[in-house]
Amino acid sequence: MQLTLKTILNLKEHHAGFVYRHIRLVQHRIEIDVEPRVGSQGICSGCGKKCPGYDRLPQREFIHVPLWGLPVALLYRMRRLQCVSCGVVVESVPWGLGKSPITQSYAWFLSEWAKGLSMKEVARQFKSTWHHVFTAVAMAVDWGREHLNLSGIKAIGVDEIHWAKNSFMTLVYQIDNHCKRLLWCGEKRTEKTINTFFNWFGKELSLLLQFVCSDMWKPYLKSIAIHAKNALNILDRFHIAQKLSQAVDKVRTQETKLLIKKGNPVTLKHSRWVLLKNPQNLNPEQAIKLKELLNCNLKTIRAYLLKEYFKQFWEYTSPTWAGKFLDNWCTQAMRSKLEPMKKVAKTIRSHKVLILNWFEAKHQISLGAVEGLNNKAKVVIKKSYGLKTSHILKISLYHKLGKLPVPILAHKYF
Ligand SMILES: [Zn+2]
Repeated sequence: MQLTLKTILNLKEHHAGFVYRHIRLVQHRIEIDVEPRVGSQGICSGCGKKCPGYDRLPQREFIHVPLWGLPVALLYRMRRLQCVSCGVVVESVPWGLGKSPITQSYAWFLSEWAKGLSMKEVARQFKSTWHHVFTAVAMAVDWGREHLNLSGIKAIGVDEIHWAKNSFMTLVYQIDNHCKRLLWCGEKRTEKTINTFFNWFGKELSLLLQFVCSDMWKPYLKSIAIHAKNALNILDRFHIAQKLSQAVDKVRTQETKLLIKKGNPVTLKHSRWVLLKNPQNLNPEQAIKLKELLNCNLKTIRAYLLKEYFKQFWEYTSPTWAGKFLDNWCTQAMRSKLEPMKKVAKTIRSHKVLILNWFEAKHQISLGAVEGLNNKAKVVIKKSYGLKTSHILKISLYHKLGKLPVPILAHKYF
């Protein structure tokens, strides 16, 4: 017996109540006629009940998973049905995806590819359109979010990301050792935003949280204290390092302006990355520059040394000694006469308790996860450049970082 396409179709794409009739190759495209099985009734798209037929609509095309690089289309004349409750309505077909011209199987196929590639790349690879790929990804995200398993979440990290001019998005990650993923994202970084997360997450689960990692953003801290009452709020290393770097950069900018005014444009030229990067990550040229700078009596260098000195803080094992170090560091920073550094010192002082919480959580949760996931989120934002709306961005972030579940159907063509 010969293997026919119909055999494969019935194996991979069998739908009760429908049969595959003629299959043709028309100008390098495989066309498959689909017909309702004789005597079968259609399913009402309004209420999901089986109903008698009313009439047929003109033929519609459903783009299916390509075969050997050939595009495949299912051709079908949709039935209109006479539904007792809904009136005359179009049927809903099991391979369809609402009004979209692609089949569900093809949508899962495209969305799985879009986990590794950008949507634009997937569209190019399968001679599809960006719009079709986006429809597919949005479907996968909707399904995945509906079937999300939220049990056993002990630790979350809250972070914000800047994605367009004056636009922020709040991202909430699960950062347990056994699972790190994007749990939720919402527009802006207000107290309302983070409250929306806690409402979605639910009171019961919020009270089960043991650790919440965040930056020093007040609206977050406030909402976390209210909703995650039993959790230890930790200010993480990554955000504090960020604050210190920003302060050094501010001192550098101010001093550069001053030096240029005094007729010395050279000393701080090309120093930005030299001062922001970890010393061990500098290239030889930058290392020489740093050595030169360290010999200058500059405000910038004093700020830089304070920033580097702070790194010792994280090496402590005892929170008591770490606390003493912190006090000492803050005193030095306050005496430095460098306004940006003094400002950081004040912030650190007023958040001392939360910062010291870090030592209690150190070995229990994945504290580096927020930074790691944040970097991945930035890549997603960069790759979706040009097509950015908050809706598209959210869908992309959930798809790439959400570790969303997929139905068995999704594996059909993999
Ligand atoms: Zn109905």
